[in-house]
Amino acid sequence: MTEVTRRKLRVATTSLAGCFGCHMSFLDIDERLIELAQHIDMVYSPLVDPKQFPDHVDVALVEGAVSSEEDLEKIKRIRKHTGILIAFGDCAVTANVPSMRNAFSVKDVYQRGYFETATQRAGVPDQVVPKLLPQARPIHEYVPVDVFLQGCPPPADVIYGLLTDLLAGRKPNLTAHTRFGR
Ligand code: SF4
Repeated sequence: MTEVTRRKLRVATTSLAGCFGCHMSFLDIDERLIELAQHIDMVYSPLVDPKQFPDHVDVALVEGAVSSEEDLEKIKRIRKHTGILIAFGDCAVTANVPSMRNAFSVKDVYQRGYFETATQRAGVPDQVVPKLLPQARPIHEYVPVDVFLQGCPPPADVIYGLLTDLLAGRKPNLTAHTRFGR
């Protein structure tokens, strides 16, 4: 794991194939976010304005599985520009909910989603919606992950504890505080 020596951490959060529930849990840190803001620069996130993942990020919390070509491109860029990459929640760690489609072919998934259940204009979109990969897979199958943060979603206290550990230069030990599905 890369040592973080900066006083103010450059932190990013993002979602691949996820439901943003992990981000909601992040927000459940509540008033402690004000305390964290004194030590953290949130440089990329659905919670802030920048649209392009920056060239240098100390810590990235990445929610969701790698399920589409866009997810794959995104996680490669994140890995390249991030010191500590955190698989944020069960979808990132195991593929969890997005992997429910893995028992079916992409063709069958498209058939179900864009034809059988379509109420108007049936057809697979070829613009804007990124193409699906054959399966939804956990992040570590594509790029190295530094910290696995289980939970669906991980509890706010655990996210807070993880960030304060990193700020203090401690290697986080999450085994006593997390479990899958909680
Ligand atoms: Fe949503 Fe749970 Fe997946 Fe987080 S781990 S993105 S809360 S389904």
